[in-house]
Amino acid sequence: MSRTRLTVVFGPLLVTAILIAQTKIVGDRELREAARNTNEWLTYGHDYAETHYSPLQQIDITNVKRLGLAWSWATGNPERSRVEGTPVVADGVLYGSLGWGVLFAVDARTGKELWRWDPDISHDYFLKICCGPSNRGVAIYNGKVFAGIPDGRVVALDQRTGKVVWSVQDGPSKDNTLTSAVRIVKGKVIVGSSGAEQAVRGYFSAYDAETGKRVWRFWTVPGDPSKPFEHPELEMAAKTWTGDVWHKMGGGGTVWDGMAYDPDVDLLYVGTGNGGPWDRNIRSPQGGDNLFLASIIAVKPDTGKMAWYFQETPGDTWDYTATQPIVLADIAINGKMRKVLMHAPKNGFFYVLDRTNGEFISGSKLAKRITWATGLDAKGRPIEAEGARYKYNPVRISPSNLGTHNWQAMAYSPVTGLVYIPGSESSAVFARDPAFEFAHGNQNAGTSTPQRPRDDQGKAIPGQVPNVPIVEPAGAENQPADTGPFLAAWDPKTNSERWRIQPTGGFLSRGGSALVTGGNILFHDAKAYNAVTGEVLWEVNLDGPSAGPITYMLDGKQYIAVMARGTPDNRLFVFALDAKEPIPSLVLAK
Ligand code: CA
Repeated sequence: MSRTRLTVVFGPLLVTAILIAQTKIVGDRELREAARNTNEWLTYGHDYAETHYSPLQQIDITNVKRLGLAWSWATGNPERSRVEGTPVVADGVLYGSLGWGVLFAVDARTGKELWRWDPDISHDYFLKICCGPSNRGVAIYNGKVFAGIPDGRVVALDQRTGKVVWSVQDGPSKDNTLTSAVRIVKGKVIVGSSGAEQAVRGYFSAYDAETGKRVWRFWTVPGDPSKPFEHPELEMAAKTWTGDVWHKMGGGGTVWDGMAYDPDVDLLYVGTGNGGPWDRNIRSPQGGDNLFLASIIAVKPDTGKMAWYFQETPGDTWDYTATQPIVLADIAINGKMRKVLMHAPKNGFFYVLDRTNGEFISGSKLAKRITWATGLDAKGRPIEAEGARYKYNPVRISPSNLGTHNWQAMAYSPVTGLVYIPGSESSAVFARDPAFEFAHGNQNAGTSTPQRPRDDQGKAIPGQVPNVPIVEPAGAENQPADTGPFLAAWDPKTNSERWRIQPTGGFLSRGGSALVTGGNILFHDAKAYNAVTGEVLWEVNLDGPSAGPITYMLDGKQYIAVMARGTPDNRLFVFALDAKEPIPSLVLAK
């Protein structure tokens, strides 16, 4: 729970001291104990283990059908804004972020806006931000609200007023963007970079929360080989790259989403992104694993020094990021308690690692259709399928570049022991772009769907336009078909699926993040499920996909809050038992 800081204020004409109750301070102790905090939602994933689990149980499987709208708040719908944010709640106030880096605070009981701060980003940035303007969340700590802004700024605002306390430019180049939720660890603001499609050089940084001074930066890929390594881990990484062009193109490996922290082991875990350009042949022409792309990295938060790494997709060439949300748990495997890190990256597998040392415990297929690899070896390294490394002719690969799992956070319930994963089964066609030329500021994937067959040097073979046969890697014909979005309940002890449902949100929509509670309620995409059985118990039409649901308790009443993308306005919806506000009409005004 939060401490209350009382400040004694002496006005110049006032003889009497006035006691002003200030905002309760969220400090290191509150963040360490957030898992047991039933009433608030203090950090992005509810707690340092990023479980997206709240112990609250006022709303449970017997009464969830009585949920109704308590209040809603129109966000002001910044232009073309995506809705991917998960808000936080402390001391009766809900703080959050919108697509263009707009930050806000509203009264968590009523939805009354307390402040709103607009970073005023040039909308020229639209093309620089992979996948549109998005911001996944803020952090609160020691009286301030922190966020990464899409144009590369890291800001600290006064928690009560929304006024800027400090602001620094994080990105080393104008192509770096920030979309991920920031986290606070031991007085430092941890910020990960975005935008591997711009073929930037990935990194994550730590800033002093009080001053905004950078404490350390960890580059996820090596830089210019003619210059000294910025930190020793890059010497090992550089041996896994070939040729000498990657540093001119950046290399990728941005850290745009998943992070978690274990205060006992004192390690910060991050997931790293895909290679930039996508096609390894362009950035590392003689092959190589290309460390630390598509990896989980564990570092000491005080120094940024690496403790271990685990690469999930060596030599990535399919946009298979490992940035997806990370969840930590202590679970019994073969009768022995293990401190595990659980991860479902884009590449289709579900990994259980020992988070103290990075040891691979188990891995299995989360996606039913995986055609780029036939499985994992004893150390967790994928066994690539023949033909998966595409050349100039198109190859259909599953999962697609959007991945089996993306930014939609999975949730872990210590009650059911299950992980709930919003995912999707899909495929994409990959081929080298014979006309590719790297250009700063452009999307630099280096892939295309060619209109005519080509030989291995990229030369067009005449006479067969435009019917280019699309082939698949060896063994693909034995795989089940892609079936679109799903919500899976996964047992990490056995690394196997318990149940799966196919949401009705359309083929492309996989909904938002998942939330699970002590009342055994699983929330996902404006539906409440029985977390044990997967039965739908309640649902509401919010007109568009929703983002990261959270829950909190105020004055003895449990609330569930979720942001939803709608027309004409993106809106924050807050539900409670027996609340009866009408759902505002979200019909596009013509
Ligand atoms: Ca990517």
